[in-house]
Amino acid sequence: MTRRLQGQSPVFPVDVLVVGLGPGGGSAARIAAEGGARVLAVERRAAVGEPVQCAEFIPLPMGCHARDAAVYCQPITGMSTYLPSGVRHDSDFPGIMIHRGAFDRAIARQAERAGARLWTGTTLVGLDPVARVARVRQRGGMTSVTYRLLVAADGPHSSVAAHLGLPALELVQTRQYTVPLLKVHAETDIWLSGDYPGGYAWLFPKKGEANLGLGIDKRLTPDLKAPLDALHRTLVREGRVGAKILRRTGGAIPVGGLRGVLVHGEVLFVGDAAGLTHPITGGGIAPAVISGERAGGAAVAYLQGEDGALVDYDEEIRDLYQPGLDRAVARRRELIAAWRVSALDQDAPHRRGWIAFPEYLQDPPAREPGSHTPAPTTEERIPI
Ligand SMILES: Cc1cc2nc3c(=O)[nH]c(=O)nc-3n(C[C@H](O)[C@H](O)[C@H](O)COP(=O)(O)OP(=O)(O)OC[C@H]3O[C@@H](n4cnc5c(N)ncnc54)[C@H](O)[C@@H]3O)c2cc1C
Repeated sequence: MTRRLQGQSPVFPVDVLVVGLGPGGGSAARIAAEGGARVLAVERRAAVGEPVQCAEFIPLPMGCHARDAAVYCQPITGMSTYLPSGVRHDSDFPGIMIHRGAFDRAIARQAERAGARLWTGTTLVGLDPVARVARVRQRGGMTSVTYRLLVAADGPHSSVAAHLGLPALELVQTRQYTVPLLKVHAETDIWLSGDYPGGYAWLFPKKGEANLGLGIDKRLTPDLKAPLDALHRTLVREGRVGAKILRRTGGAIPVGGLRGVLVHGEVLFVGDAAGLTHPITGGGIAPAVISGERAGGAAVAYLQGEDGALVDYDEEIRDLYQPGLDRAVARRRELIAAWRVSALDQDAPHRRGWIAFPEYLQDPPAREPGSHTPAPTTEERIPI
């Protein structure tokens, strides 16, 4: 119930405030609400999941979230990776192409059904982590939300992190066109080349359409449009895609690995806001869902009096993802260092720097003296 203090904005008390309704926030809100907590999730966009900023691939283990006909698009069986020499490498890579807007909305709906309140068109604009009060802005004005726990699921530019004085994440920028797909197929195509410094280009099929995009480290080159247009022209010439651009999107992807600490007082970070996106592939939907679910579970346990639940959340996520992310960060650093010297137009550095090649997992990445390198985990082998 909203209370109004004299001369002040209304006050809305909750157990768990979730900031952001992407897959991470939706999952946290669902699990916390299912556990009986009073949950409010705020999303600055007017509609959950729109506009879509995604290439829309999820790995097979996420399939349980793609059963809805509005979410499921088509199966993916493999990945074809094109090296600078033109050599194509095919690997197994089972997954699903989804309609991402519907995917995010389906998770948010489950949270709502479990009892969570969802406020769209609502932006977190202020935070007092000591008093545990968040200020949110809506069209109708400001509201103060008092919380016992806050889940920061507000993506790569996390404003919660900024309010806590935490450093911004290292990011790669992307640009993507949705184009007609003239030859239907079931593989994701990846191009590694000196033309895409600090990143790669992709073509992900969605039945009669495809998401054609690239990610680039803007410290190495500022222009994303020219290389994407050039790849698009090549594929049009080859008769693989149509010339028409049906939709345009883009966005930032965290590539620096996990934040040093995932829990700050009563604030838990999940998904992109936690730095969980894979620094080589840019895949982040699965870790957002998984960390969101774990954070929701930790919130319920904490509210029921389990004092160690928040620390356990940090440890659990680190156990699951740290080895894979450490390796990816190390490989990325190697690639960036090489790129600073020359355009990477040889195959060898790309084979070492891309998840589909055995070289990627062959030897441990360079680490600080004295630290040990854990063996590759399942998550590392299925990194998107
Ligand atoms: C072009 C592109 C292609 C990608 N392709 C893939 C792919 O194919 N497969 C894959 O696994 N990953 C992909 N990713 C990465 C993936 O989209 C992210 O990892 C994923 O969305 C992370 O989910 P999240 O819930 O942590 O954050 P997000 O999905 O970013 O959700 C954060 C939400 O918080 C909201 N928000 C932000 N600030 C505030 C605020 N102050 N107040 C209220 N709300 C706020 C935002 O509006 C947003 O809805 C891609 C990313 C990009 C940019």
